[in-house]
Amino acid sequence: MAKRPKGKVTTSRRPPRKSQGGSGTALPSADIEDLASPGLAAVALRSGLLRWYDAHRRDLPWRFSEAPGREGREKRAYAVWVSEVMLQQTRVPVVVDYYSRWMARWPTVETLAAATQEEVNEMWAGLGYYRRARFLLEGAKQIAEKGEFPSTASTLRQVRGIGDYTAGAIASIAFNEVTPLVDGNVVRVISRLFAIADNPKESSTVKKFWELAGQLVDPSRPGDFNQAMMELGATLCSKTKPGCSQCPVSSHCQVLALSHENPSVGVTDYPRVVPKPKPRRDSAAVCVVQIAEGLEQEMAAGTCNLFLLVKRPEEGLLAGLWEFPSVLVDESKSDSLNRRKEMDKYLKQLLDIDVKRESIVVLREDVGQHVHIFSHIRLTMHVELMVLKIKGDVGQVCNKGQDSMKLKLVDESKVDSMGLTSGIRKVYNMVKAFKEKKLLHQSQIPTRKMSRRQKE
Ligand code: SF4
Repeated sequence: MAKRPKGKVTTSRRPPRKSQGGSGTALPSADIEDLASPGLAAVALRSGLLRWYDAHRRDLPWRFSEAPGREGREKRAYAVWVSEVMLQQTRVPVVVDYYSRWMARWPTVETLAAATQEEVNEMWAGLGYYRRARFLLEGAKQIAEKGEFPSTASTLRQVRGIGDYTAGAIASIAFNEVTPLVDGNVVRVISRLFAIADNPKESSTVKKFWELAGQLVDPSRPGDFNQAMMELGATLCSKTKPGCSQCPVSSHCQVLALSHENPSVGVTDYPRVVPKPKPRRDSAAVCVVQIAEGLEQEMAAGTCNLFLLVKRPEEGLLAGLWEFPSVLVDESKSDSLNRRKEMDKYLKQLLDIDVKRESIVVLREDVGQHVHIFSHIRLTMHVELMVLKIKGDVGQVCNKGQDSMKLKLVDESKVDSMGLTSGIRKVYNMVKAFKEKKLLHQSQIPTRKMSRRQKE
């Protein structure tokens, strides 16, 4: 069992000032001693919150009553783990669908451990931040090798990819350890309950949230209490429209009390909004290389086509994922000519063939741009389509490259089912639409000619 942190956490009471909610504005803070102490107020808060949770909690597939015994707890632990990792990516309704498909395919940690990264990526496709999917697989292998699921927050943190939050969720929900968790929803609830005006991103404030969450967690129902805090933050205590009149802990909420004392204070001023740093702006030339084996009409129609995919490095952004050949270019030199020069150099190095000499370029056209936003990068992808006919054996293309494990030719019919990232999927759809338009245009030319002839 986790020990409760000793001592109380205190914040200084600052004189209320007009709050504008942005960073740098001094927001009023309240005294948090009453709630942080294991006294009556904390007991009342816990029981009020748990009563509300019992009556109002959403029915979600990972919230099931586990079978008694170690096996049942481990099954629950796995379900909590998968769902929590997915919930860090997207909204509950989307997760329900992904979670159900995931569990149907890999119902236990052992079955997941036997999967390949490609299979996991395919299942994860569309959720983004593939590093998490990779860590899930690596963590599953680690657990399967060990032969049992770690059952405390401290041992769970030793599993690849499991951080403080996920460790707290699994340990408290599946193994009933009295340990806290803090996610974005819990930060919002605690910052409002205790009127914490400090920057929630600063490490000293994060520490404070963890200490308070640790003092609040219910000793007899820690898992339910943690879920109730998250549920409150996800539903009633929302970012912009908190339903304070129905809130089960409104009588303990210090921001609500402050807002009644001082009309210039709004509960939505808490937690303080910290502006995100501007993302870096990158540009990339992306070339969708289609190796054509058929006649022109067949190519345009999408038959007899192979697409060249390249595996990204195992570290860094989108590590180990497949993409169309891409090369970063200087934004000031991102005109078509320069991009093509850079791409030709890259393809020569990649395939060990000289595109111009060893193949016939059937078509090379700019398709358009797609801007993809990562958490810290705004990437403008300049997309072109290049249709090649290789002089010689097509199968040799990937084998001629420096590292054939990092290249593959994929049949067009299989590209749709591959676990491509949403940015690459978007690029592929752009190219598909471009080809369809081109095909339509070509099919219309004889018709127009004929109608002119008919007029004559
Ligand atoms: S009273 Fe309002 S602001 Fe306070 S915890 Fe409840 S919903 Fe959130």
